[in-house]
Order: sequence, then structure tokens, then C-alpha cells
Amino acid sequence: MDEQLNRLDSHPDALRIRSKKLEGGVATLIVDGSGMRNDERKAMETRLREAAGTIPGVSEVRIAMTAARKGAAPMIAIGSGKGGVGKSTITANLAVALARMGKKVGLIDADIYGPSQPTLLGAPQRPEAKDKQLIPVDTAFGVKLLSVGQLVPAGQALAWRGPMAAGALAQLTDGDWGDVDLILVDLPPGTGDVQLSLVQKAKPVGAVIVSTPQDLALIDATRAIDLFARTDVPVIGIIENMAGYICPHCGEESDPFGSGGAEASAARLGVPFLGRLPLSASLRKASDAGRPPAAEDGPAGETFVALAKALLDALERNPS
Ligand code: ADP
Repeated sequence: MDEQLNRLDSHPDALRIRSKKLEGGVATLIVDGSGMRNDERKAMETRLREAAGTIPGVSEVRIAMTAARKGAAPMIAIGSGKGGVGKSTITANLAVALARMGKKVGLIDADIYGPSQPTLLGAPQRPEAKDKQLIPVDTAFGVKLLSVGQLVPAGQALAWRGPMAAGALAQLTDGDWGDVDLILVDLPPGTGDVQLSLVQKAKPVGAVIVSTPQDLALIDATRAIDLFARTDVPVIGIIENMAGYICPHCGEESDPFGSGGAEASAARLGVPFLGRLPLSASLRKASDAGRPPAAEDGPAGETFVALAKALLDALERNPS
């Protein structure tokens, strides 16, 4: 009889019990483990198993723990139609800018083709694991990081297909993120099956698309918009990168790839335009050296803070 299990109503973990059933001596409990660390969940499971096991008529206890991600920090995916447009660079710097603005930020590097976040954020160390749960690496910039590059040796990731990549992503999303406010997810460039699987797995609340001003890149960017539309993820904005070139010698600005293409495209497609970033040799050098310019004062730092503000504003206007 189920009533016997009502004794559990006074248990300290009672609020976590979603349902309970007693059948043929087998007590089945469905327990909500959301927002808890692996070890806390295990401890709760042990407590409930012991408590239920002492109830007369119970010969076996089965406990099903529900998904841990419910109530976790919202994820924002950063995608691009093709590689080399600066998606990873912008993701790293957006995360750093958000952290400078006082947000608790996590970053998941799911770019299986070229996981560069450990380099960009100067954090090559491997994450530790506790109870099979990865503990994100603390970078020097207030951003917590987990990267597919930390899971496998360089180069091996190239052969991954959708389900494998999604499996790896699950390890990263299920990491011990603590109380982060939001998590940016650096997707692999492109709009194929792998990206589709990852977006379906991550279920981001919104997506940001990075594009260069070139027409070709914009056609690809349109494909990226399509990918998110197919997965019901709202595109919260487009960022135009390498828009204009600032000469390191004379400071003169020129437009090697044209400029404004992404903004015009965004308007045409009805997607918010978050801002643009010029081509800059110092940005590339600082990025290669693991010193994200967003961490420093100066024009690049200000640009990234403005982009991060635009992102938060767009997110507020576009609640999921
Ligand atoms: P993606 O993630 O789209 O493949 P990356 O972020 O890895 O692109 O950037 C590709 C290369 O371009 C890197 O060497 C990076 O430093 C450089 N890069 C990105 N954005 C800029 C920029 N605005 N100015 C100069 N170099 C840039």
C-alpha cells in the first residue's frame, strides 16, 4: 500500500520526492536532483534509500533521479556559418566582458573541429572530476571553462559525428557549474548534422551568430539562422567581425572586406544587430597569447563590453 510510504513525508528530503509507489514490496521513488552536485545527489539517494528500506512491507527500494539540468543557468549558443570568422575569439571576449560586468559566466567550448578556448583564455589545465562530474577550470578572467579540447588529445576530435559530439557536450553541460548566471556555448562552425545535434542537446535559450562582412559569409550566416530556426532557438543577434581595418601604424580605418553587410542582412532578416568589431592585428596577437582584450581597458575592451551589453539587452527583450 502506498500510504506506508507517506512516512517519508516527514523526511528532510521530502520536498525533493516527486512521486512514490509501493508494489509487491518494491518502493519506487522519483526524486528531483536538479541544481545539486553529484555528491549531494548521491548522499540524498543514500538517505532516502535507508529511510524507505526501514518501512514495513518494503523489501526493495528503487530510486530514479530526474534530470539535473532543470533550473540550471541558461545557455547561449554562439554559432557561425563557416570557420575562421572569429566566433571563438568573440565568444571568449564576450564571456570576459560579461564577467567584468559582474556576471558569473561559464563557457563551454563545443568546437570539436578546433577547440581554442583553453588557448584564448590562457587556461590549458585539465579539469578535475569529482564523482564523474567535471569541475570547470577557473580562468584568470573570472570565466569558468570546460572544453572538448580538455577531454581528448588535439586532432582526435576531427572524426566525431553528431551523437559522439553530443555525448561529449553532455559531459560538459553536466559539469559542476555552481551558481553561474549564464553559460556561453562555442559551437563548431557550420550548419551540418553535428551542429544540429549539439544545438538539440544544449537547448540554448538563444543564439548569437558571428559573421564577416563578405557576401559568402553572409550566405553562410543565413544558413546558421536557418539551423536555429529549425531547432526553435531564437537568434538574439548577429555580430559582424573583421568589419573595417585599423592600420596599426597610422590609425587610418579602411574596409578590406566591405562593411555593413551583416547589419544590412540582419535588418533584412529581422534579426537584431548587436554590433561590429574591426580587424585588428593587436587583437589577434593578444588572443594568441591568451590575453583576451576584453579584460583590458582601451578601445577593444570597450567594444566587447558594448557587445556584451547589447547581448544582455537583446536577451531581455527575447525571453525564452
Ligand atoms: P572561428 O572560431 O570562427 O573559427 P577564430 O575565433 O578562431 O574563428 O578566429 C580565427 C583567426 O582570426 C584567429 O587567428 C583570430 O585571432 C583571428 N581574428 C578573429 N577576429 C579578429 C579580428 N577582429 N581582427 C584580427 N584577427 C581576428
